[in-house]
Amino acid sequence: MAVEDSSSSGSEQAWLQVVHTFIQKNLCSTSKDPCIHLVEAVVDCVKAIWASSGGTGGLYLPLSYSFVSVQELRTHQHLPCCSHLAWSSTEYQTWANKAGLDRVPLPRERLILVGTLTDLPGDLDPELRDGSLYVKDNSGTLDCELLDLNLSWLGHLFLFPSWSYIPSAWQRSLSGSGHLELLCPPVPVLPLGFNHDPETPIRVLYPEIAFHLLQHRSKFRRRQLHLAGQLVRLSTLVKTHGKTYFILSLGGPSSATTPVPIIVQIPSQLVWHHALRPGHSYVLTNLQISVIRGFSNRIWATGPSSHLMPLEPEHVQEFNVEELILETIPNLLPVPSSSQEHHNSIREVRMLSYKGTVTKVLNDSASLYELDGQLCLCLAYQQLPNNGRAIRPGAQLELQDVHFFQSVGGVPTLAPCLRGAVLLQGFSQQESLKQSPHSFCGVVLHLRLLLERHMGLPLYLWTARALEEITSKLCPHLLKHHQLLKSSASGTAGLGELLLAPTLDVLAPPGRSIRNVYQEIVEDPHHCPLQEYSLLQPPCSFPTLAALKEDAQCRAWATFDPMTLLPLTEVNHLPSYVLNARLAWSWVCLSPTFFQPPPVLLGVLVASSHRGWLQLRDQSGSLPCLPLPEPSQAFIDPRLIGSLVRLERFQLVVEREVKSTFPSWKELGIPGFIQERRTNIYVLFSLADALILPIHSPSSHHPSPRGPPQAKFPRLEGPPKGQSRLLLLSHKECLMKRNYQSSQGADPLPPKPTLSFHASGTWLGGIQRKEGNDWGLPEPLGDESQDQKVFLLFFGQSVRWFEFLHPGQQYRLIIHDSTFPGLLKEGDSSPLSQRILESTGFTSCLIVQDDWILEPGNPQGIPGMLGISQGLSESSLTEILNGSSPGSFVSFSAEILSRTRCVSLSGTTQQGNSQTSRYGVKLTVALDAADVASPIPIDVYIEAPHSPLPLGLLPGARVYFQHLEKKVSRFQNVYCRFLPSSYLRILSFPTEAPVSSSLPHIYLAELQGDSLGPSPASASCHVVSVLSVQLLWICAHCTSICVQGQCSRQGPPCPTQASVSQANIRLLVEDGTAEAVVTCTNQQVAVALGLCPSEWDSLMELVRIPGKVALHTTRAGAQSEVTSKTDDPLMFFLQTLCSSPSVLRPVFFTFELKRKPTRVMPLEPPRLHRFQFGEIPVLTRVVPRLSLSCLSLRDPEPPDILSS
Ligand SMILES: [Zn+2]
Ligand SMILES: [Zn+2]
Repeated sequence: MAVEDSSSSGSEQAWLQVVHTFIQKNLCSTSKDPCIHLVEAVVDCVKAIWASSGGTGGLYLPLSYSFVSVQELRTHQHLPCCSHLAWSSTEYQTWANKAGLDRVPLPRERLILVGTLTDLPGDLDPELRDGSLYVKDNSGTLDCELLDLNLSWLGHLFLFPSWSYIPSAWQRSLSGSGHLELLCPPVPVLPLGFNHDPETPIRVLYPEIAFHLLQHRSKFRRRQLHLAGQLVRLSTLVKTHGKTYFILSLGGPSSATTPVPIIVQIPSQLVWHHALRPGHSYVLTNLQISVIRGFSNRIWATGPSSHLMPLEPEHVQEFNVEELILETIPNLLPVPSSSQEHHNSIREVRMLSYKGTVTKVLNDSASLYELDGQLCLCLAYQQLPNNGRAIRPGAQLELQDVHFFQSVGGVPTLAPCLRGAVLLQGFSQQESLKQSPHSFCGVVLHLRLLLERHMGLPLYLWTARALEEITSKLCPHLLKHHQLLKSSASGTAGLGELLLAPTLDVLAPPGRSIRNVYQEIVEDPHHCPLQEYSLLQPPCSFPTLAALKEDAQCRAWATFDPMTLLPLTEVNHLPSYVLNARLAWSWVCLSPTFFQPPPVLLGVLVASSHRGWLQLRDQSGSLPCLPLPEPSQAFIDPRLIGSLVRLERFQLVVEREVKSTFPSWKELGIPGFIQERRTNIYVLFSLADALILPIHSPSSHHPSPRGPPQAKFPRLEGPPKGQSRLLLLSHKECLMKRNYQSSQGADPLPPKPTLSFHASGTWLGGIQRKEGNDWGLPEPLGDESQDQKVFLLFFGQSVRWFEFLHPGQQYRLIIHDSTFPGLLKEGDSSPLSQRILESTGFTSCLIVQDDWILEPGNPQGIPGMLGISQGLSESSLTEILNGSSPGSFVSFSAEILSRTRCVSLSGTTQQGNSQTSRYGVKLTVALDAADVASPIPIDVYIEAPHSPLPLGLLPGARVYFQHLEKKVSRFQNVYCRFLPSSYLRILSFPTEAPVSSSLPHIYLAELQGDSLGPSPASASCHVVSVLSVQLLWICAHCTSICVQGQCSRQGPPCPTQASVSQANIRLLVEDGTAEAVVTCTNQQVAVALGLCPSEWDSLMELVRIPGKVALHTTRAGAQSEVTSKTDDPLMFFLQTLCSSPSVLRPVFFTFELKRKPTRVMPLEPPRLHRFQFGEIPVLTRVVPRLSLSCLSLRDPEPPDILSS
C-alpha cells in the first residue's frame, strides 16, 4: 500500500498524510474504513499521471502539489489560474506561448483537483437540470466546461489532470462562483463500468423514412421507434418559459436527404448537448412523434427511456421499411424533390461555417466579439448556455450554419441564430476575463431589447453602440452602471431603455412579432430575425458633450468668412473701425440636422453657482443651457435639477467673438488680421421637447474628480422639518460681481467682488410649519399693517437659484433648520443686512443661506391666497418714447433685431484713462405696439461689467426687459441702458427659419401727418432734381480725406495707406401725392446716377485725385445753382449728368424714415416760405418735406404690355 511504503521519505509520508486527511474530508461518502481504498486509488492515479508527465525530477510523488477542494477554489481563488499535473514546464510553456506575445497567459498553480463529474447542480431537484456540467466533492459543486463529453463519465470520480479556473466577475450573479475549464479528458479514479454491446441488433429507422413518418402521425403516435443517422444540425440549448430544450437533426449520407428534427427536452438528457458532435453518427432510442406547443409541425421527441449512443453499423438493423411504408404512405416513393429546394433556400440566406479564434471582446454586454482580428461575431441571437462563459479571448470556436454579413457598420460580421451552432474547439490560455463587473445587467438589457423589439442585426448593433455611448457619458460618476442598465424588478424599463425608447419606438416598436423557435431551427425555408437585413442609416448618436462642443466649434469657425459675413457692396465703403466692429460678434445656430447622424443631447441638468447658468453635464464636461417651458413662460421649478435630460430637438448656439485689425475690406481674406477668437457655446431648448428622467444622484457618494464642484440641491426626502413662507417676487436684479463677502465672517468689508444678485418681493401670509407631509396654516402676523416687503440677497452657493427666480412668480422659501425660529420673521441681523436695510429702505433683509430651499409657491390651503399672480409690467409706448423724462425707468418686451459690439459707455467715461476699452453689447430691439403699423426699433445697451452676459440674446429672440434706464442721445434719439438693477428674461428663442416679409408699397402722402406711417416701405416716384452729390475717398484708418490716395491727416502719419470710397446723393422725388428728399449712399449713388459699374469705377478713379468732389444745387424757382467751381471738367460732367433725363427719371425705391420714431424732436410745423413771382413776393405755408433714407433703388419694371 502506497501509504505504508517503507521506502518513502519523511516528506512523502507527510504529504501522504495530508492527502489522506483531505480525501477523508472531501471525497469519502462516510468516515469509515473504505476510505483507505479510495486514498489508495487516488494516490495511484496521481502517481500514474505524475510519472507520465516527464517533469517528475526523480520524485515518485508530486510533493510540490497540494489537493484543492471545490470550496477552497470558490472562496480563496480570486484570480484566474491553471494547473497541469500531467505537464512538464516545457509543455506548459508551449501551451502558454499560444496565448500570444502581448497577452498574459494563465498563471500556473500546483493544485490537484479530484471530483465527481455530474449534471446535477448540488443537491437540487433532478428536474432542474439544464444541461450544465459540474465538478462535485463533499465541499460543494463548481460549474465546469469541457470539450467532449463521454456520457458514461457522469456520476464517476475523476482526477482532472489539466484545468483552468476562471473566477466570476459578476459578483452578484446567481452562482457567485467561477467555472472550471477542463483542458484534458478526465482520468477515472476507479475503473468505469463497461458498456455492453446490445445482444440483438437495434432496429432503427433512417432519416428519410423518419421524415416521412412525421407527415403521417396517426398510426405511429404511440409507437416508440429508434432513429439512426448522421448529426447534421445541432441547435443551441433554448430556454423559454422556464423550459430548456434543444433540437438536433439527423441526416443521411447524401446531402439530398431531408434532415429529420428531434427535440430533446427531458432534463436528464440535456447534458447530451455536450456529447453530440456534428458530423458524427448516432442512434437515439425510444423516440415518439409528438406535437409541441408553439411548433407548427410534428417533431420526433425523446422520452424518459431514450438513450443516445454512437452509431455502430454492426449493431443496428434497418426497420422493416417495406411494411412500414406500405402501411402508412401508399404513394410514397420516390422521395419528393422538395429537399433540393430546401438546400437552395439555405444558400439564399447566406449561411456558412467558420473556424477561428476569439481575439477580443468588443462589447461583452452586447455579446460582440472579434474573431481572428478581422471579423465581428455577434452571439446575441443565440442563447448560449451560461452566456458562453468559456468564450474568452483566446478561445477557439467552430461556427456552423451562421449568417454572414459582408458589412454591417463597416466590419464583416458573423451572427448565428438559433439554428446555427457555436462549438468550442479549444479553451483560452489567456488570463483575460470575459466580463466586466457590470456586464451582467447589460447582457439582460440587451437581450430584453433584442427580443421585445425583434431587432435585426443592423439595429441591434446600433443599439449596442448607443448604449455604450450613453454608459461612457454617464457612468460611473453621474450614474451607477446598474441604475442605467438594470430594469426594475417590476418589469418596467430602466433608464437606459427609457433613453433609447423614443428612437427605437420609431424603428422597432415593441411586440412586433414573436420569434418562432421551431421555424428558426428546423423549417425550410429558414426564417429568423437575422434575415431582415437592410442598410440602416444610424438614426442618431449620443456624443459626449465635450465632443459635441468641439464639433460645433469647428463647424462654426469653418463657416466664419469675413467676406461673406459682410455684403461686398457695403463693405468696400466701410472705414476699418466700423468693419472690425461689424465682425466682432456673430453667431451660428446648429440644429441636430446639421450633424450626421443627428446627435441626441443627453446630460444631467445642474445649476452652476459659478456662472449662474444651468448646464447639461456628462462625464466629459458641461454645456450651458437655457430651457423654456413654453414661449413666454418662466422656468421656475428647481426640482428638475439633478434630472437626466434627453433632447432630440434643440438649438446649439455658437457665438463667435473676434478681435481683428483689418485695415480695410481688401485684406479681409488674410486671417493674420484676426488676433483673438473666442467662442461661447450653449444650447436652447423647450422643456416640451425634453424627456426628463429623475435620478437619485450617486454623486454625493462619488464626487466627480473633474471640474468645479456643482451646487447640490438638498432634496426633500422624508417629511421635512422646519419652516417656510410664501413669497411673491416683484423684482430681480442682474447677476454680477458685487462687493459682498461670500463667507459669513465678522468683517463686513469685502475682500473682492463676489458674483451675486438681489431680489425683492412681498411675503404672502405668515410663517408655516411642517405638519406631517404638509405645511400648516400660516401663523398670524403680529402687525397686519407692517410692511411685508422683503429683500433677498444671494451670493456664494445660493447664486444657483438665479435662473429659477422671476418677477411675478410665487415661491416658497423653506428653511430646514428650525434652530432659528424667528429668522423668516425678524430678518437677519448681521451687519451686512443692517447696512442693506439702511440703504434700501426695506423692512426685512435675508441673506439666503446655502441650505435654504426655494420651490414654486403653491398657496393652496391658505385662506385668501388663491389666485394671486402678477403679470409682467410693461410701460406704454408713450412712456418709452417720450423724451421729457430721461433717466426714468421703463419695462417692455421686444424682439431683438440685431446685436453688435459697442464700446462700453461707462468704459469711456469712468475709465477714460485706461488703455483697454471695455466692450458692451448694443441690442437693437423692435418694440411692437398695437397702434403702430410697423415695429419701432430702439437700442438697448448692456455694458461690459455685467458678466456673464445672459444666454440667448440673439437676433430673432423675444426678450422682456424690466427696469431699464431711459436715455436721450445727443441726436435726440431715445435709447435704454441695462443697469445692475435691471432684469431681463428670454421669452422665446429665434425661429429657425426667419420669415422675410415684403415691404408695403405706399404713397408718400401716407407718411405725412401725426400718425407714424409704415416704415420701412417702398414707393414708385419720379426724380425731380438732384439736391447734392458728394463723392470722396477717405482713409480707412482715420476717415480723413485722402488726396491722390494719401491720407491728409496732420500730425502722426497713419499706419496704413488704405482708402475707401464713399458717396451720397440727395434726390428730390415726388409721386403725385407729396414730395420727399431721399438720401442714397455708396452703391446706390451709382444707380441713382444711372451709371453702370465700369462707368462708376472710372468716375471714382477720377475723384481720387482731388479726394473729394461735392456738388450742391439750390432750387430757386426753376433755376439750379451750382455752388462749386464750374471750370473743372469733372464738376461739369457731374452737373450735366445730374440735370439729364438719365437721372431725372422714374425710380422704384425702398426706404425708411430718416427721422427715427425714437427721436424725440417734435414734428416741424409748416413754415412760411417766400417765393418771388416776377416782381411780386409771395409768402406761402409749406409743409416740411419728408426726409427718407434709401434702402434700395432700381428702375421700375417696364409696364406689362400684354396685360394692359
Ligand atoms: Zn437564421
Ligand atoms: Zn488716416
